[in-house]
Amino acid sequence: MTNYIIDIGMEVHLELATRSKMFCGCAVVDPTTAKPNSAVCPVCCGLPGTLPVINKNAVALAMRAALALDCQIAHTSIFARKNYFYPDLPKGYQISQYEQPLAVNGSLMIHTCQGDKVIRVHRTHLEEDTGKLTHVEGEDGSYSLVDLNRAGVPLLEIVSEPDIHSIDEAVAYGKELRLLMRTIGVTSGDMEKGTMRFEANLSMRAEGCQELGTRVEVKNLNSFRAMEQALIYQVEQQRKTLEQGKKVTQQTLGWDESLGKTTSQRSKENANDYRYFPEPDLPPLIVEDSWVAEIRDSMPEMPEEKRARYRDTYGLQAEDVERLTEEPSYADFFEACIAAAPKLTPQRIINWMLTDLLAWLHQNSKTMADLPISHKAFTDLIELVENSTINQNTGKDVLGEMLSTGQSAGEIIEERDLLQISDHTLIEEMIEAVLEENPDEVQSYFTRKETIMHWLFGQVMRKAKGKANPQLVKEVLKEKLDQRRH
Ligand code: ZN
Ligand code: MN
Repeated sequence: MTNYIIDIGMEVHLELATRSKMFCGCAVVDPTTAKPNSAVCPVCCGLPGTLPVINKNAVALAMRAALALDCQIAHTSIFARKNYFYPDLPKGYQISQYEQPLAVNGSLMIHTCQGDKVIRVHRTHLEEDTGKLTHVEGEDGSYSLVDLNRAGVPLLEIVSEPDIHSIDEAVAYGKELRLLMRTIGVTSGDMEKGTMRFEANLSMRAEGCQELGTRVEVKNLNSFRAMEQALIYQVEQQRKTLEQGKKVTQQTLGWDESLGKTTSQRSKENANDYRYFPEPDLPPLIVEDSWVAEIRDSMPEMPEEKRARYRDTYGLQAEDVERLTEEPSYADFFEACIAAAPKLTPQRIINWMLTDLLAWLHQNSKTMADLPISHKAFTDLIELVENSTINQNTGKDVLGEMLSTGQSAGEIIEERDLLQISDHTLIEEMIEAVLEENPDEVQSYFTRKETIMHWLFGQVMRKAKGKANPQLVKEVLKEKLDQRRH
């Protein structure tokens, strides 16, 4: 049996987080709430006689992305017309960049269980988005609706080299790129809303063969799960085709989540089908070195730097670092906690955050922005557990209550009378009572130590309504039992 090498190149389109469109003053609106065709003008509707004007902020964001990817930014880049007809593209062409893109030759480091790896970025260019079609099944047959709110929204296209050789690497590349782009604030990266769209160019070749195989392009990868499933499916298809001695057909495929398979969208056109030529209505885009330097100086801490800082400054485990940095809002919350409660160890904060807080977010499909409590309220709770005002288990209940009501830990503890019992005499009394009530168990303690100890501990905690200091109960209980032995 032949071994095959998988070669994947990723093409990513992301909508830049500008307020207005790429070539006109129309607002960029939320597709889920805006009325169709409410943010349009003659320019983005493609009416004859209109002229495009370049959005400076879109260029700045694109440069930011290019610098984060270590690309070389071209002093001069050229906009070009990519000609094709489609009902969501009223001009009959998309303004893009072709022969002279904004930036080239970048790279992105990814992490998989196989280790770290650098994926080269071939190019990064600016273009405009198309409108959106909605296909409707009506009573008299099917028809399509056109919404041009999205037409002309600034897009950044990032094309990698085919350096990705496994499905794990493809997903890691997608996640790392999304994290990086969100960290530097160039896009919301919302895949469900189509703000960030991934396409994989996949081909396979027999081991030892130098030349890349025929590629298929897989679109509609709206989540990393979809990406993984689509690629697993397509790798299997290509392997079968090649093993049967057949040729792979170059084509564009869409991933159909409900069918669990890819479906053919069109046989793939080549670049020369688009009849690219320089856009005559726009001047060359010239970027001065001073502008590049200015943007370079404004860059925030990169995910890689943050990970290293968390490891070195706080001594965190790789796994905790990974979870804390996978989402910029987690890292922000963590740092706010550290600043608010310098007495708590970072590890203590992380334990509470990663287990209880994030679990609550996931269970309720919420994000950090929806959190009903402040980082200060959160660290206040942890401090109450640390200084033994309440015990760990009560603390977890209180946090749950805080998250559902938005109340502070102090309020909840007072309302529900949850203060931890650390009074030695009181605990001793409760233990004595439990031991009196359970003479048989006390007898068998001397033969089945661990189990009985555990059981008696439970009885005492029950008597204390869960509020006793568990450490103290354990100590005193052991003392009392050992006394009884003599
Ligand atoms: Zn417009
Ligand atoms: Mn494109």
